[in-house]
Amino acid sequence: MAAKRTTVRDLRRHNRSMLLAKLFFDGPLSRHELSQQTGLSAATVSNVTGELVADRLIVEAGLVESDGGRPRVLLRVDPAFGNVIGIDVGETGVKVELFDLAMNRLAAVDHPMPAGPDPAAVVEQITAGVAEVLDSTQVDEGSILGVGVGVPGTVERSPAVVHAQTIGWEGVALEQMLRDNGITLPLFFDNGAKTLGQAEMWFGAGRGSRHAVIALIGSGVGAAVITDGTTYRGSTSSAGEWGHTTIVYNGRECRCGSHGCLEAYAGAEGILDRYRKARGGKDIPGADEQSQLDALVAAAAKSKTAARVLEETAGYLGAGIANLINLFNPERIVLGGWAGLAIGGRMLPAIRRAAQAHALRHPYGVASIELCQLGQDAVAVGAATLPVAAMLEEGADPRESTAAA
Ligand SMILES: [Zn+2]
Repeated sequence: MAAKRTTVRDLRRHNRSMLLAKLFFDGPLSRHELSQQTGLSAATVSNVTGELVADRLIVEAGLVESDGGRPRVLLRVDPAFGNVIGIDVGETGVKVELFDLAMNRLAAVDHPMPAGPDPAAVVEQITAGVAEVLDSTQVDEGSILGVGVGVPGTVERSPAVVHAQTIGWEGVALEQMLRDNGITLPLFFDNGAKTLGQAEMWFGAGRGSRHAVIALIGSGVGAAVITDGTTYRGSTSSAGEWGHTTIVYNGRECRCGSHGCLEAYAGAEGILDRYRKARGGKDIPGADEQSQLDALVAAAAKSKTAARVLEETAGYLGAGIANLINLFNPERIVLGGWAGLAIGGRMLPAIRRAAQAHALRHPYGVASIELCQLGQDAVAVGAATLPVAAMLEEGADPRESTAAA
């Protein structure tokens, strides 16, 4: 008996999840369209959408004409059902952004951390940032479905512990630290490259593809590998550490302790260090990595040294992308992150040429190389999708399923 009850409940959850996700991504839709597009019977669609309306997850959104019959009622996810917060813990600062359920950005704060991401400072910045976005919008804390946090490194879950060797985070108990600092909202964590990947797959340059690699290039380098629509995680969720694949045997020292990693050449820190050496050790103008990288890109128009450093960077990135193409056969490679956008904005044709020169002809021919469409906020947008993904998967309010956790 118990087994049968579970099966019925699973089926109900599956149907709720399927219809809710359909309405979230493709709504507004009529019940008729929902039935056609999901293959569920008209009776099931009618029952399940009735429940979802009663639970206030979805609302009516006007009428659409039908051929000859009565006009059909359109349904969509209620943007006012709740709000979500997305947090980008980067190496140069913490971004906190508040969204409604239609993913409209209601508020954003950005706290630079010039000294780097010390765990205690990050916890303070997150706590302060969450309070600030709630205050500035007068959004009630009770309306928050969840807070997603994108972090550098690998996330071990429940409770979330972060391992980010390159920035000296060895087993940082970030979830517990946030709880100890007074955060009571439902929390969700993932690697920043993976949240960027989810944002681009849902709303940006990855939309419509089943096989893609979304690359995050900031101070460090990471990637989200999407195979058949799902992020490839590996045995302990650390898959996608593209930045620490070897691009030059016995090459430059990397922050991870190894030598010749892609990150040591194509991460912002590696690019700027190569530029500094090319300038005979002379300082690069700019107060932080972002303004220094902007200075390098701007200088390339008149400085041969700057142009050469950028050309070489495009070469390393292109070779790294060719490795991704040969390994994963993606339809699309999306280049994002603040440094990826700064370099890619100017060097995309050179990056494509270098990728072509190093990749096998056939898989290169089916892969397009594009820039990220969601800009510098993509990690935060993706982090905010973590509670939404939990809601779509369960077909239910994530506040209920995570309240006990
Ligand atoms: Zn490395």
